[in-house]
Amino acid sequence: MAVHINLELTDHCNIRCRMCSQSLRDEAHGAPHRFMEWETWRAMLAGLEGMDDEVHLCPHWLGEPTIHPRFDQFVEYAFAINGRGRLFQEFKLHTNAVVFGADRARLLIRLANAPGVDPRCFRFIHFSIDAFSAESYRLVKGADKREQVYRNVERFLTLRQEMGLERPYAHLAFVVQDGNAHEAADFMRHWTRALDRLGRPWQLTADWPCDDSDAIYFRPLNCADQAAADRLHAGVCRDLGVVDADAGDRLRAAGSF
Ligand code: SF4
Repeated sequence: MAVHINLELTDHCNIRCRMCSQSLRDEAHGAPHRFMEWETWRAMLAGLEGMDDEVHLCPHWLGEPTIHPRFDQFVEYAFAINGRGRLFQEFKLHTNAVVFGADRARLLIRLANAPGVDPRCFRFIHFSIDAFSAESYRLVKGADKREQVYRNVERFLTLRQEMGLERPYAHLAFVVQDGNAHEAADFMRHWTRALDRLGRPWQLTADWPCDDSDAIYFRPLNCADQAAADRLHAGVCRDLGVVDADAGDRLRAAGSF
């Protein structure tokens, strides 16, 4: 059995997604936001040794991990001491891609494909994008970062291609909601072109992607009126041809949340 372990590098975030409780409060764990200390990271990684279960490691929980001032160093260290997967067998990264420059992209691509790193270890990065226009990005994500995010994700795809490497796969996320549903088609068109240009297989899904490939995926908003959010999401996915026209109003893969 696999256990999912979130070692939260920080509970700070650099944007304010309106669907995220993190953006609605000044503290996340009953205390002011913080950045993890180096010694804490080292000790927690060491504590993974000898676990009976397979460990799937996420360097985040409530915040945006890449804004940790030593994010690159922390991740590089984790892989350096993980020979033969002795501490963790999978590494999962979700990011809003606001702070995701070329050096960081190269580092992550290199780590995912390094000799001695199991191909299943660092398979994907979830890029939480959720908008096509700058206006919708501002509304849904609470920041003027649309251009920067698109540039960063596109550069990641280009660099991975130039390096001739396979992973991490890019999973491009769009959480459907009132403020962005009208431009889901634009989002899909834009990223379809970007992925098609790479000439490698990719998938289009109405929930979390699961294949080993790049993906564009649409997710429903989790909220108080779940039935309405599911309906909106399902309608968008039917209109875009992500699912069949007769698919129902709740599109969740088994085990999804
Ligand atoms: S980027 Fe992530 S942590 Fe930050 S507000 Fe958005 S969903 Fe929440």
